[in-house]
Amino acid sequence: TRQPHDLHEAPNELSDIRHVIAVVSGKGGVGKSLVTGLLSVAMSRKGCHVGIMDADITGPSVPKMFGVRGEVRGDQAGAYPVTTAGGIDIVSMNLLLENSTDPVVWRGPIISGVVKQFWQDFIWQDVDYMFVDMPPGTGDVPLTVMQSIRLDGIIIVTSPQELVSMIVEKAVKMAEGMKIPILGLVENMSYFECPDCGKRHEIYGKSHIQEIASQYGLDILGRIPILPALAAECDAGQIETTEGKWLDEAADKLLRLDQN
Ligand code: ADP
Repeated sequence: TRQPHDLHEAPNELSDIRHVIAVVSGKGGVGKSLVTGLLSVAMSRKGCHVGIMDADITGPSVPKMFGVRGEVRGDQAGAYPVTTAGGIDIVSMNLLLENSTDPVVWRGPIISGVVKQFWQDFIWQDVDYMFVDMPPGTGDVPLTVMQSIRLDGIIIVTSPQELVSMIVEKAVKMAEGMKIPILGLVENMSYFECPDCGKRHEIYGKSHIQEIASQYGLDILGRIPILPALAAECDAGQIETTEGKWLDEAADKLLRLDQN
């Protein structure tokens, strides 16, 4: 019988990628892309060469966050990611569309095919950590993507308004089926800290992340509050110059992957 890893597609023969980490969520809008962006910035600040594969084909938001736009270069050997001001390499559907506001209305198999091309036809040079901003959910499309790319680990992004335990359970089962380690959970929009009194308000209700993490034996890599200023920076393409040190400790944990 074929083992799950036999299904993986080989990356481009000119690519050199050391670690590949998928960022998943139960549904859209919980901040999966923001977490992918913040993790990438944190790793880059630690001196790693980071690549981001924006596999969220129907809702690509990575280029905008980093303030990069089109012109993917290509030659006989393949295509090349677009590099941000801070030196992060990005591949996204948004960099390939003639008009970045055009909707992508493809069905699952086509979407998975595009992600395979991001992996095989693009030349990712000297990437220490690649973060894959996955299609949202735990359905067919993320599953196919997970099967086709050699992943070293998965990070699950949740928010307090979700049915977190169900999402985590699904993701855990998916990861177990594919024998991919879950590196941990990130809870986004955890709370809001009042700028006037400093008090933490749990806007979306009480967080259950601690219980769920211990139930499944998972690490909590970080909790990010609701940060209107950060959202504005992302909208302005300035995630790389944000002063916040969100997910810095998570980046330290990922660095330790190299030592294992
Ligand atoms: P997803 O990738 O899960 O669909 P995004 O990362 O695109 O979600 O986030 C959805 C929207 O919510 C974006 O406009 C983003 O800027 C905003 N957002 C995400 N996380 C936060 C946060 N912690 N504080 C404020 N706004 C946030």
